[in-house]
Amino acid sequence: MGTPLVVVQDLRKMFVHMGRELHVLRGIDLTIDQGEIVAMVGQSGAGKSTFLHCIGTLDLPTSGKISLGGEELTSLSSSKLAAIRNRMIGFVFQFHHLLPEFNALENVMMPGMIQGRSRKELEPLANSLLAEVGLAERASHRPGELSGGEQQRVALARALVLSPKLILADEPTGNLDTKTSEAMHQLFFDVNRKHGTTIVVVTHNMAFAESMPRVVRMRDGRIEADERRADQRPGASQASEPESPARAAL
Ligand code: ADP
Ligand code: MG
Repeated sequence: MGTPLVVVQDLRKMFVHMGRELHVLRGIDLTIDQGEIVAMVGQSGAGKSTFLHCIGTLDLPTSGKISLGGEELTSLSSSKLAAIRNRMIGFVFQFHHLLPEFNALENVMMPGMIQGRSRKELEPLANSLLAEVGLAERASHRPGELSGGEQQRVALARALVLSPKLILADEPTGNLDTKTSEAMHQLFFDVNRKHGTTIVVVTHNMAFAESMPRVVRMRDGRIEADERRADQRPGASQASEPESPARAAL
């Protein structure tokens, strides 16, 4: 057993839509340990995004408990939640939300700039993260000058810039072709291994999900299955591995 990072107990979320109650999360219990990489799967409408928004402090649960790194979120003010979000969580969404008028390097530095950190401090870090996602040569390109896969890699580098403990990725390859998706998936593994970042990835790609050491399946607001398997990735039991060939394919 590892050290729990995310502990969710009887999480429920209800929306009122046009006068009707929609019970979207119906009692979720889940613990994710530090350093885990977890795939989350389930049909559209199952509640996956709502669940990520709740644990990412982007949305408030109706009831239940969430703790992150031992800190109970339920009773915290919105400014405390924002502080935890900034300190602990990186997001990668299906649509990257890069700022079109800034280049790749500036987009990666942006979360740090917003925190008031200096460009001088952030620039080497952002450059090394861009190199890590295979985009060292693209630092001065704006999003419009990058392919969809490259844009998502910039979004991943940006999610890493504040050294989050947790990355929440909601269908990050939803708009990418198969080959580009595979390379992106490999990057999540690489980040998990290199930085020890805990990662939860919502995906519709079953081959990817099945390559993960843990797969959580949601259905109608509940967890239908939570399966762990031996990590079958090449080099999974080693401390490091050679540069991934998949990265070059992006
Ligand atoms: P998934 O990501 O698994 O496709 P979601 O979490 O996006 O599922 O949505 C689950 C259900 O909650 C859907 O029926 C959706 O329409 C509903 N829902 C999500 N967000 C809202 C909202 N802000 N207001 C009302 N209903 C919502
Ligand atoms: Mg969704």
